[in-house]
Amino acid sequence: MNKGTHFETSRARASKVCVLLAGLLLSGGLPLRAQQGQNQQNLYSPQLVSELKQLQQAALDSDYAYRQVSHLSNNIGPRLTGSLQAERAVEYVADELKRLGLEVKLEKLMVPHWVRGAETGELVEYPGQAPQTTQKIVLTALGGSVPTPAEGLTAEVVVVNDFDELQALGREKVAGKIVLFNVKFDRQMAAQGYGGDAYGQVSGYRVVGASAAARQGAVASLVRSVGGSQNRLAHTGAMRYADDAPRIPSAAVSSEDADLIASLLKEGKVRLHLTLTPKQLPDAPSYNVVADLKGSERPEEVVIVSGHLDSWDLGTGAIDDAAGVAVAMQTAQLLKQLNLRPRRTIRVIAWMNEENGLVGGRTYAREHASELANHYAAIESDRGAGHPLGFEAMVSPDALPMIAPVSDILRSQGAELVRRTEGTEADISPIAAQGVPAFGLWQDTRTYFNYHHTAADTLDKVSLSSTLGS
Ligand SMILES: [Zn+2]
Repeated sequence: MNKGTHFETSRARASKVCVLLAGLLLSGGLPLRAQQGQNQQNLYSPQLVSELKQLQQAALDSDYAYRQVSHLSNNIGPRLTGSLQAERAVEYVADELKRLGLEVKLEKLMVPHWVRGAETGELVEYPGQAPQTTQKIVLTALGGSVPTPAEGLTAEVVVVNDFDELQALGREKVAGKIVLFNVKFDRQMAAQGYGGDAYGQVSGYRVVGASAAARQGAVASLVRSVGGSQNRLAHTGAMRYADDAPRIPSAAVSSEDADLIASLLKEGKVRLHLTLTPKQLPDAPSYNVVADLKGSERPEEVVIVSGHLDSWDLGTGAIDDAAGVAVAMQTAQLLKQLNLRPRRTIRVIAWMNEENGLVGGRTYAREHASELANHYAAIESDRGAGHPLGFEAMVSPDALPMIAPVSDILRSQGAELVRRTEGTEADISPIAAQGVPAFGLWQDTRTYFNYHHTAADTLDKVSLSSTLGS
C-alpha cells in the first residue's frame, strides 16, 4: 500500500467502513453483549464476507455521501441548534431517508437557541504603542456566552497558562481584569495522529474557564483557540457556566493573538476593549431524525449508525459533522442499492444539538431506556472526512477478536485499526454509559483540528475519492 493512498481524504472511503461494520453486526448477529466466547468463525459465513466486500466496492464507487455533505453544507449552510438552517436540515435528511424507503420518525427535543452577535476586540493600551493607534484582535464568542455591554468593556488583560496559575494569582491580581487562558493545543500530538487526544487535553479551559476566572473576580474570559489553525482563525465551541460563579462574557482568540498578547504583557500593561453581543433566546423545538431500515429476522434489535446534524455557525459544518451524517445516510443507501436486507434493524440517526448541549443524545437515551438492551451497537462518525483508519471501540476486551475479520476486509484500504477506548463519540456516549457497545469512526485527524469550529469548516475540506468511478 502506498502512503499517499493510505492517507487520502475520502468521503466515499469513510462511508464504507461504517457500512461494513454495521452490516456485519446486523447480518452476522455479532454477539458483542451476549454469548461471548462463541466461535467467531461461525459469525462469518462465506455469504456474509462476500456481502461485506460488495458493500466495500459499492461504497468506493459511489458519490452519494459526498452529494449529501455538499447539500447540507453548501445549500443549507451552518446549522447551529435552533436556527432555521438546522430546521431545514432536519426536513431534508428526513425526506431523503424516506425516499430511500426507511421508516422515519422525528423525535422532538427542546434545544438551546443561542445566536451570535457582533464580536470585536482591540488592544487599546500596550507597551510601545504608536500614539492614537490600537491593534485588532481576532476573536469569536464561545457558544452560550453572555454579552458584554452593547458598547463593550475595557479592562487590563492577565495571562495564565493553567488553572493553578489563576488560583495562585487570586482575586487580588485578577479582579476587574480579563483573564486569557493561554494553553496551547499540541500540534505535534495532532501531527502524530492523535488530534482528538490533543483536543481533549485543552478543551476544558474553553468549557469551564469563564467560571474559574469569574470566581477570582474577572470581568471577561478569553481562551486561546482550541485547535491547530495557523491562519489567524478563532475556533468557537461550547462553554458552560457554573452555578456558583458570576456569568462573564467569554470568547476564543486566535492562537496568533494569544501569542501577541502574552508577548506584549511581558513588557508591560495591556488593555483590551471587548465587544460581544450574542443573545440567548428561549429554548426552541427541534428533532433527532431517527430512520429505520427494518431487520428481516429480528427487527426489534437495533444497530445505530449516526452523525450529528447541528454544527457551529462560523463555517458551514462540512467536516463537523455533515460528513458524519452523510456516512450514516449512505449506510442505508448502499444496503438499498444492493438489495441487502439486514437481519437486525439499522437505525440511521442524525443527532441534534451535539455542539452545545447534547440534548439529542441525552433525550434518546432517556426515551429509549427500556429498549437499550436490544441495542446491539451504536456507531457515530464525528471526526471529519479524513481517511478512515478503523474504529475506536468502547467494548469489552473479549469482543475485539470478533471484529478482526472485518478488519481483515478493511486492511486493503488501510482502515484495519481497532483501538479499545474508555469513552466514545458524544451523542452515543449516554447510551454507551448504559452498556450499548459503541464505535467511533477513527479517522486521520492530522488536519481536522486546523478547521474544526472555525469559518474554514467548508466543503472543500472534504475530497471525493480519486478512485471514484475507476
Ligand atoms: Zn462534531
